Amino acid sequence: MIVTKQQIVKWLETAADIFARQENFLTELDRKIGDADHGLNMNRGFRKVMEKLPAVADKDIGSILKATGMTLLSSIGGASGPLYGTFFIRAASSVMGKEELTLEELVTMLDDGVKGVQLRGKAVAGDKTMVDTWLAVINSLRQQPGSGMDLALEHAAQAAEQGMKATIEMQARKGRASYLGERSIGHQDPGATSSYFLFTALCDNVLL
Ligand code: ADP
Ligand code: MG
Ligand code: MG
Repeated sequence: MIVTKQQIVKWLETAADIFARQENFLTELDRKIGDADHGLNMNRGFRKVMEKLPAVADKDIGSILKATGMTLLSSIGGASGPLYGTFFIRAASSVMGKEELTLEELVTMLDDGVKGVQLRGKAVAGDKTMVDTWLAVINSLRQQPGSGMDLALEHAAQAAEQGMKATIEMQARKGRASYLGERSIGHQDPGATSSYFLFTALCDNVLL
């Protein structure tokens, strides 16, 4: 089983839909431990991505992802713009020129994206950020070499949910939430939640 370019385009469209529907939810999460704009940021960013998508949808997967990253970088303010922008730009690097991806190529693509986020934002596991969701995804995918794409992604989606929920008990060590110290404990991280939505949007289009 492979991931086609059309599925990558659909992934971005699904993500835009989800961020429009979950704008208030994400913003409410950010109200508890941030500045109440994460839903707004993600929805605004992905609306811009949708505006630009028709111009690049015929290109290869790497070019589509790179354009997505550039758009997010320039249209979302705050911490999440540069971080999600970096995620897509770095994810694009190994898939330039490709029209379809194997599971292994997909994992490398996501792994590159996460490594880019970590390089830029310096967050490690347990810092209560989007990185906690992504590391759970990558660890899960790396632990199941040889299994089919469906099974691997189903497990990874469960891992993503666990990674997101694990942020509830964490104390934030990066971003605005870290200013709250211990008071950040007990709340789910907004960025970990948007990353969960982003990954499940991918799974929704690959698992057909
Ligand atoms: P801002 O905090 O600037 O208002 P957002 O509200 O859009 O930006 O995004 C907040 C999210 O960004 C957090 O919930 C967290 O997941 C993520 N984040 C913040 N700083 C970092 C970092 N250094 N590394 C990774 N993720 C981060
Ligand atoms: Mg915010
Ligand atoms: Mg902000």
